[in-house]
Amino acid sequence: MISITDLHKKFGKLEVLKGIDLKLEKGQAVVVIGPSGSGKTTFLRCLNILEVPSKGVITIDEQTVDFSKPVSKKQVNAFRKQSAMVFQHYNLFPHMTALENVMEGPVIVQGIDKATARKKAQALLEKVGLADKADEYPFQLSGGQQQRVGIARALALEPKVMLFDEPTSALDPELVGEVLQVMKDLAAEGMTMVVVTHEMRFARGVADEVLFMDGGVIVERGKPEDIFSHPKEARTQQFLSLIS
Ligand code: ADP
Repeated sequence: MISITDLHKKFGKLEVLKGIDLKLEKGQAVVVIGPSGSGKTTFLRCLNILEVPSKGVITIDEQTVDFSKPVSKKQVNAFRKQSAMVFQHYNLFPHMTALENVMEGPVIVQGIDKATARKKAQALLEKVGLADKADEYPFQLSGGQQQRVGIARALALEPKVMLFDEPTSALDPELVGEVLQVMKDLAAEGMTMVVVTHEMRFARGVADEVLFMDGGVIVERGKPEDIFSHPKEARTQQFLSLIS
């Protein structure tokens, strides 16, 4: 489903990603952990070309982009449609209701008629447990509810891959669980997902594979029980000892 070869990203002289290789099967949930500044967010943003990689080849499903060659806008747009991102700070439109936020993508990006988009949005809000909040505005919702709208909005684009960028780190602790539960359900349904998170329990319980990143490279990867219970690399051991 996803294949990444020798992915590099530079910001000016600062090389943030220094050659990432990864292959992911359809339906897998991968959790990316690592210290702050190690390049996790940049890696995720490169998968959606919110950041344009400096070098490397990324394939998602049937589309491949080679960033060592010039990439056309058309290619970027087509590639982007395959994944959808959930952000730390939800980024909902404040002047739109929950339902309108979820409808926006299908109507604007996919050109779906409003009645169909409304039905679809209602079903997605129900899926994330917010059927009764459809007509509320973001400011009327808790952070956890806003983030669940954010997930419904991403799902409305019918992505092949969901990308989560620290989706619970802006939330009060008591609201984290409801968002993780929605993500857990998605993984159980077979959604392919890449999740950057500090929620180690989620990583342990849900990830098919955990990647430990440091200094712009994947230092170690493996099944959650191996990474958390028997990390091989000293850097992984040190990181895990600091957070537990
Ligand atoms: P993480 O998600 O692991 O905390 P990031 O990917 O956010 O790491 O950042 C990795 C490094 O890239 C940091 O040193 C950060 O300052 C730098 N960086 C990220 N985005 C930009 C940008 N748009 N311009 C310049 N430097 C950036």
